[in-house]
Amino acid sequence: MMDDCIFCKIIAGEIPSEKLYEDDDILAFKDIAPQAPVHFLVVPKKHISMPADVEEVDDLVMGKVLRIGAQVAKEQGVADNYRVIFNNGAKSGQVVFHVHMHILGGKDKPWPM
Ligand code: AMP
Repeated sequence: MMDDCIFCKIIAGEIPSEKLYEDDDILAFKDIAPQAPVHFLVVPKKHISMPADVEEVDDLVMGKVLRIGAQVAKEQGVADNYRVIFNNGAKSGQVVFHVHMHILGGKDKPWPM
């Protein structure tokens, strides 16, 4: 738990969220400002600031983030239509410095790439 980390506070239950999945390692919750019909975030409970800070000890949990993202996407009805985004660093658009995987699903119009 990092002080002043909004996602650590969500994980701790100090800030409410719409949870879609939770276990000892992982939390998935709806993005508060959805950019697609289905938009949720999957985070490791361990505080890691950004993808570039992932270490070897985190390999298992980061693989689980990907797998649970797929599971929740299926539950949300977008099993075969979602994109996965990790922002890394402020210049890339990262605003919350607790590593998180965006799942953006169910969007019909083409994406920029
Ligand atoms: P990023 O730009 O990759 O750091 O994305 C951070 C994401 O967190 C944005 O899509 C925000 O809409 C989302 N977000 C920020 N605060 C909350 C919150 N309290 N609950 C859910 N999502 C949030």
